Amino acid sequence: MSDRGTTSEGPRLSRAAAHRLSLYLRCLTAWPSEVEKISSSQIAAAVGVSDAQVRRDLAALGHLGQRGIGYDPRELTTVIREALGTHRPWRVVLVGVGNLGRALLRYQGFRSQGFEIVALFDNHPAKVGESLEGLLVRPLSDLPAVIHQEGAELAILTVPREAAQSVADCLVQSGIRGILNFAPVVLRLPPHVPLVTVDLAIQLEQLTFLVQHAHETVSPPLDE
Ligand code: NAD
Repeated sequence: MSDRGTTSEGPRLSRAAAHRLSLYLRCLTAWPSEVEKISSSQIAAAVGVSDAQVRRDLAALGHLGQRGIGYDPRELTTVIREALGTHRPWRVVLVGVGNLGRALLRYQGFRSQGFEIVALFDNHPAKVGESLEGLLVRPLSDLPAVIHQEGAELAILTVPREAAQSVADCLVQSGIRGILNFAPVVLRLPPHVPLVTVDLAIQLEQLTFLVQHAHETVSPPLDE
């Protein structure tokens, strides 16, 4: 995953810290509701970072938890969601309804985590006008109007590498606030539009690197 992006809302965190907060949130989501406290060491053990790192990350979010007692899991969940911006729903457009785009569209987990795909776009004449998961596939020329009407703020980009930059430019011109790019290309966007690129091939390369060296060292923790 590439690391460019800032937020004008909430505390200013590094991308590495934001990534760890997402992991802490996974841990909190799985935490039994009847257990009213969670300690930094319990979070650290679940996520694979040091206790001190968890405490530093959470201290950056405010005065949370009590020394020797731990954190209130519900309060922590709320504060982390606010820091990550997932305390409120986000409306998302998806551009490129090919193999990957359709697979992402069918995934129910986005909606349950507050990301609603509200419009689909493609430039293929055979796809425009098609209905998928209750949404009409629209031509790119509709982007500005639909983004405005739907109040969409984020875009998922699943077009071929060659088309990605020009589509990203259209999205920016249409007022999108952030892009999740799956195309294997480094996009150039203006600084006010954050970009996250997902490239599973890079993740696989990281895995082969770790596998090759697994006998030499223990993998480093996720700490900064
Ligand atoms: P695909 O060919 O099945 O789908 C691409 C879709 O984009 C098609 O529907 C096509 O009509 C549409 N498209 C092409 N040009 C367009 C344009 N200018 N405007 C709008 N729509 C346009 O491809 P796929 O297998 O779904 O892969 C999509 C992208 O995701 C590719 O860039 C691929 O390399 C990438 N990919 C990334 C990962 C990852 O790990 N991040 C994994 C698989 C695929």
